[in-house]
Amino acid sequence: MSKIHDDMVQPIELEENWQDGANCLGVDPDLFFPERGASTREAKEVCRGCIVREQCLEFALQNGEKFGIWGGLSERERRRIRRQRAQAARSIVGA
Ligand code: SF4
Repeated sequence: MSKIHDDMVQPIELEENWQDGANCLGVDPDLFFPERGASTREAKEVCRGCIVREQCLEFALQNGEKFGIWGGLSERERRRIRRQRAQAARSIVGA
């Protein structure tokens, strides 16, 4: 599991206008919403160098974005973080 997965188990606070620093400004949005089964490599490559990657991912997690690449992660990868967060919340309640 990558570092960003581990780091994102705890929610982070979103800064106002975080999108202003997005690496994908001006990039074709279709790149981030590939057809089912199509490669996500190019989109993830753009996200890799993005300074607001964590903010973008947090936004997608908080808003339950079901489609596309956000913060460099696919919907399946985001689901994994949501599950981890749910587990962490349950373990706090059960502690
Ligand atoms: S992480 Fe990717 S999708 Fe999100 S703002 Fe940055 S470049 Fe755009």
